[in-house]
Amino acid sequence: MAAHERLALRAVAAVLPFRTNEYVIDELIDWAAVPDDPIFRLTFPQPGMLAAADLARMVRLLREDAPEGAVRAAANEIRSRLNPHPAGQVEVNEPLLDGVRLPGLQHKYAETLLIFPRQGQTCHAYCQYCFRWPQFVGEPALKIAMDDMDSTLRYLGAHPEITDVLITGGDPLVMSADVLRRYVEPLLTVPSVQAIRIGTKALSYWPSRFVRDPDADDLLRLFARVAGAGKQLALMAHLTHPRELRPEIVTTAIRRVRDAGAVIRCQAPLIRGINDNADVLVELWRNMTRSGLLPYYLFVERDTGPQQFFAVSLIRAYEMFRDAYSRVSGLARTIRGPVMSAHPGKVCIDGLADIAGERVFVLRYLQARDPRLVGRPFFAHLDPEAIWFTDLKPALGLTGLAPVGTGPA
Ligand SMILES: *Cc1c(COP(=O)(O)O)cnc(C)c1O
Ligand code: SF4
Repeated sequence: MAAHERLALRAVAAVLPFRTNEYVIDELIDWAAVPDDPIFRLTFPQPGMLAAADLARMVRLLREDAPEGAVRAAANEIRSRLNPHPAGQVEVNEPLLDGVRLPGLQHKYAETLLIFPRQGQTCHAYCQYCFRWPQFVGEPALKIAMDDMDSTLRYLGAHPEITDVLITGGDPLVMSADVLRRYVEPLLTVPSVQAIRIGTKALSYWPSRFVRDPDADDLLRLFARVAGAGKQLALMAHLTHPRELRPEIVTTAIRRVRDAGAVIRCQAPLIRGINDNADVLVELWRNMTRSGLLPYYLFVERDTGPQQFFAVSLIRAYEMFRDAYSRVSGLARTIRGPVMSAHPGKVCIDGLADIAGERVFVLRYLQARDPRLVGRPFFAHLDPEAIWFTDLKPALGLTGLAPVGTGPA
């Protein structure tokens, strides 16, 4: 890599978090194909991720050996313009117990509570498109994080409608089995909880977590305890590209997790230059299905951080999804998407249609803050440039972007 390329990489990494590990470097990246290699693009910063003026400013500061405080101030100023907390994550999802806020929990959809364990707010490597990037660079006080399981249990007691608890991060599987157990075991005592989900990229970024790490067996025993308590342990595996499933150790990890009685469901966003190709999606969903993993969500890249660099237009995302979906068996069609995790809810693009002479997106809420919205179709004017929900405008002379009869979203 030339000196100016290294400087550009450092400049981007001063603003957006960068972290990788030897497994990703040795086993996943095809170094002969760099810089276009999809796994390289997945974890290494690229100059185009910052606007040209911001990149130039950071490069100048680094080249002049500016004091650390000046570099940090410039980085923070740029970050503040990159919509660090999309979809109301901080302001509106944080629940209240007896009038007191419970930081580190999020309760957006009636049946699912998210918990962000304090020790799980990092990852084995960082995806450059990650919408959780502020968790990795922010002041500790601004991080979404908790370790108060007593309040969590009281909150669950007050909300019997919650059937699912999603332990998320960062990546909860950076925690040791001992620490993870402190979050999981109390949940087994709550009768209304039917499933514990763990959102993780470890299957792909650190499969050793399930195979050779010193406490791999303890982790699998913890998974087995959940199944033994009559609840589902769902490993929500983040898998972006079929290459991630190829190493032999991943096959072993999958077998061990499934033998522990856990279910593995898979989700990832559609990302330009990484997996925005119907053949790649077909291979990904087929290989998941072959290994007994359940395809779950294909997301649209969110409106935060380097969205402009990784975004795929909604119309292209839909066409690619439909093309790939039409080529896999019904067993793989458990995949849903393309889905936008937006402020009012999870919006799925169900189709494109010509109605009364207007080209429209046919949309549907898979999830919504307001449960009345779920499952009802609605329409948006077809804008070929749109990359996110907030780019969409009402269609067919309607005034809002909401299902008929449910009021404004
Ligand atoms: C996606 C999501 C969930 C889970 O929704 P499911 O449809 O049950 O998978 C829960 N909370 C938040 C904030 C989410 O984005
Ligand atoms: S593993 Fe998940 S949380 Fe971690 S950097 Fe990647 S997308 Fe973000």
